[in-house]
Amino acid sequence: MRNKKSIITLLIISITLCSAVALYYLQRYKEVKQQSFDYSAIQAVHQLVYAKRDYDLIKTQLVSVMGLLSHSQSLVNFAISPSEQTKSLLEEVWQSVLVNQKWYRQIYLLDTTGQERVRVNYSVDTGNVTIPQQLQDKSDSNYFQHAQDLESEQIGGWGIELDAENGELTFPYMPAIRVFTPVETAGKRVGYLVINLDIMDLSSRISFSPDNDLRAEVLNEAGYYISSSDSGKLFGDSIPERKSYNLKNIAPKTWELMSNEPAGHVFEDGNLFAFNTVTLANNQKVHLLIQLNQEQLMKRAERDLNDLVHEEMIVLFTVLVFAFPFAYFVTHCRRRSLESKLARAALSGMSAVMISDKHHRTMMINSEFENMTGYSKSQVIGHNALQLLLENTDQELSSDSIWQNLEQEVWEAEVLCKSKYRIPFTAIMRIQAVQNNAGRISYYITSLVDITVRKQLEVRLRFLSERDSLSNLWNRRKFEEQLAYYARLIEHSPNEATTCLALVDIDNFKRINDELGHDEGDRVIAGVAQLLQNSLRSTDFVARVGGEEFALLMPHTSLPEAKRILERLRIEIELTAGTKVTVSIGFTDLTSNTTRSYKCADVGLYQSKSSGRNTVSMYPSHADVA
Ligand code: GH3
Ligand code: MG
Ligand code: MG
Repeated sequence: MRNKKSIITLLIISITLCSAVALYYLQRYKEVKQQSFDYSAIQAVHQLVYAKRDYDLIKTQLVSVMGLLSHSQSLVNFAISPSEQTKSLLEEVWQSVLVNQKWYRQIYLLDTTGQERVRVNYSVDTGNVTIPQQLQDKSDSNYFQHAQDLESEQIGGWGIELDAENGELTFPYMPAIRVFTPVETAGKRVGYLVINLDIMDLSSRISFSPDNDLRAEVLNEAGYYISSSDSGKLFGDSIPERKSYNLKNIAPKTWELMSNEPAGHVFEDGNLFAFNTVTLANNQKVHLLIQLNQEQLMKRAERDLNDLVHEEMIVLFTVLVFAFPFAYFVTHCRRRSLESKLARAALSGMSAVMISDKHHRTMMINSEFENMTGYSKSQVIGHNALQLLLENTDQELSSDSIWQNLEQEVWEAEVLCKSKYRIPFTAIMRIQAVQNNAGRISYYITSLVDITVRKQLEVRLRFLSERDSLSNLWNRRKFEEQLAYYARLIEHSPNEATTCLALVDIDNFKRINDELGHDEGDRVIAGVAQLLQNSLRSTDFVARVGGEEFALLMPHTSLPEAKRILERLRIEIELTAGTKVTVSIGFTDLTSNTTRSYKCADVGLYQSKSSGRNTVSMYPSHADVA
């Protein structure tokens, strides 16, 4: 029971503490997760700032390369005198530029009619530079139309679009951005220098990040992807089956913010979108975008969250480790306080209580014990108080015999004790042995209830129920009890000494009453009773069995002895001074038949009355009774 309570307390405490810890860490988990997400957003925004700066650097570099190439001696020589020699010189220069730069895919010269005149290609895959056999007519292309509008020295650009060869999209799809500038010699426009940039290489340069998931994607002004590590979603505007890959549809909230703000970040549907905007040569804008989905965000938060979970585990473990002693402490304290309350309640109760150790040395007593016995705490603590109470009480019981009988854990009896002031008192003593877990007795709890008053009352009640109030002699009930007792003795031991039964009746008592009054009559009865009581031996038994009739039982008395005693008694009454009172007596030897014996004595009495009263008549048991 006790264990069950301890376990329940332990469970409650453990669950409460663990719930508190779990709730705290749940809150912390949410905070740390959000902090990590916010940190990822800041990182992504920073990454895009770097990307934009890289882009601007590349743009500056490109402008200077364009300027250098458009005014290069080899280009001017070819423009002035186009020949195989000047052409191959120019191709050689451009080849070295392509090999060194690596992200220029093509450099070519268009004449003023839009015909390609010189062209050098660079393959990203092989790293080789090639010179195509066939030159193309670009007069219909949009960018050529745009190039014609450029002022001298002005650099123009034409968006990002998929490469087309002879009007057909090249496959695999190659996104390209074209940059061009007029070529002039001696103030005369002779053509246009065009450079195709490898948008993939370009974007991988500007979006480089040591973190794979922080590589930026590039979106055009319409929201379609033009650069991404996932090539399958590129160019939704040119390739019909990829039309759905548009940020307007994917994240409308983000797209709206991107249209209004140059840079920023937003969480939409659990995804993080960080963006920045760069402007291309012809004021065309492209968006740099870093998107992290829930899974990626969680992966980035993983380390912090794992640390937190570890911390929580350690705290939970610590809490549980402390919960055990704590629970024990709580149950123990509760039990202790309960026990001490009970003990105090018991100790402050009506009965005197003493607690002693296994060697019967008193450890504790209550105030009632002090009141009852007269001993103070300082007088009994450390001593065998029971021995003090029981010594000199003229009873066989001793403290040693009690301890020896204390086999059943509880011993209870009515005992006579003596207080410190040698005043005897009767108490119900109850001793309880308290065993430890190993079954050995460790304490004794002794309680005493003083029943002296009750005892006295009992004695008084018994006295009243057995005595006659007028004469103070035993009454008829007691006489019959006693008669039966002696009859039983005779029955068991018929050869034992004789017991005699005598009946004594005051003569002419009616007349005494009549002449002297009832009160005087009473006094006569009391006087005869006193005489009988005083004259007989202490072993004899005298009772008033009727109005002026007495019965005597005389053990160890033969019939002749009885005759002598009764004669002396008769004379004594007769001679008593004052009112002239005589008695008639009949007696017999007692047998086991009480009715018959009584009758014999009564016959004897009748004979005394008949023979003139103031006489003693014997009627032995062997005589005939009518
Ligand atoms: P006898 O010699 O034949 O015994 O004559 P008696 O008058 O003594 O006989 P009886 O038994 O007829 O009368 C007894 C009287 O005793 C009757 C009753 O009024 C009286 N008596 C009985 N009990 C008491 C008592 O307690 N007090 C007084 N004063 N008289 C009592
Ligand atoms: Mg009578
Ligand atoms: Mg009489």
